[in-house]
Amino acid sequence: MFFTFAPMQLLDGKIVSQSVKDTLKIKVDELKQSGKRLPFLAAVIVGNNGASETYVASKAKNCDEIGFLNKTIRLDESITEAALIKVVEELNNDNKIDGILVQLPLPQHINNERIINAIDPSKDVDGFHPMSTGKLIQGSPAFIPATPYGVMLMLEHYKIETKGKHAVVIGRSNIVGRPMSILLSQQNPYGNCTVTLCHSHTKNLKEICLQADIIVAALGIPGFLTADMVKENAVVIDVGITRVADETKKSGFSIKGDVDFEHVAPKSSYITPVPGGVGLMTIAALLKNTFNAYEARETNMK
Ligand code: NAD
Repeated sequence: MFFTFAPMQLLDGKIVSQSVKDTLKIKVDELKQSGKRLPFLAAVIVGNNGASETYVASKAKNCDEIGFLNKTIRLDESITEAALIKVVEELNNDNKIDGILVQLPLPQHINNERIINAIDPSKDVDGFHPMSTGKLIQGSPAFIPATPYGVMLMLEHYKIETKGKHAVVIGRSNIVGRPMSILLSQQNPYGNCTVTLCHSHTKNLKEICLQADIIVAALGIPGFLTADMVKENAVVIDVGITRVADETKKSGFSIKGDVDFEHVAPKSSYITPVPGGVGLMTIAALLKNTFNAYEARETNMK
């Protein structure tokens, strides 16, 4: 008996993010050689959230690699909302800083929205400010939230056909699912999909997924998307990152995606691994946003 499997190709976040970073590094080297000011990213982290520390450290390391200036401001968990807004305003007023990111989640007593709204929209490299969201919806040039932007860069790198395809996005958060659904539906070379946005109240999710040419899983439940929910040759993008206890690891945990990779991969035409997929693209996209912010500010200062 012969079994036929779809020719699956891995969407490799290492390769694509490295190519984005290499391009940025060349541009930064040119700026250095001509004695120009360099792009500068400032990250603000509140409290001692382990995952947030990991993300911010990784962002700083990647900035160093390509030659961006960067700094991380660490603030105590007990900081008041007003004091945090003051820190953001100082960064807004600092002419050397091009991009500001405030690492989420923030402590319970701080209103995320008020902090995000305090960021100068021209430095909003996370793309969470309402001004960025509005521009994104209009299809105007905007800071696109880094994770969906990273997914788009990946589709572009692998020249994945999206026009007229049915894309199903699972998860409707403001930072991943919703902007992802907008980007995939937009009139651009890696958009033009018919998009179904699913969430925790969606009925018949399995039937909807089985109609999908492209599935983006962004809900945060490890292994949620199983092989019986995916049609042959679908493109599967796994955004999920969940720390799962793992005694075999020195850290005590391993990182799991939202897709049951082992069983879904053989049915897919393309699939992202976790780790090594969208997570790396998120950082690459953030760096790209920071460079765009730098260029726009340089042009405005002239
Ligand atoms: P969130 O908790 O804000 O949103 C989760 C969404 O999933 C919600 O819209 C909810 O309605 C939906 N959902 C929950 N259970 C569901 C179910 N049973 N069926 C259908 N929909 C369901 O999460 P988020 O911030 O969007 O993050 C989602 C995942 O992506 C998390 O694992 C997070 O860690 C990860 N993430 C990864 C990156 C990256 O760089 N790869 C970046 C951001 C978030």
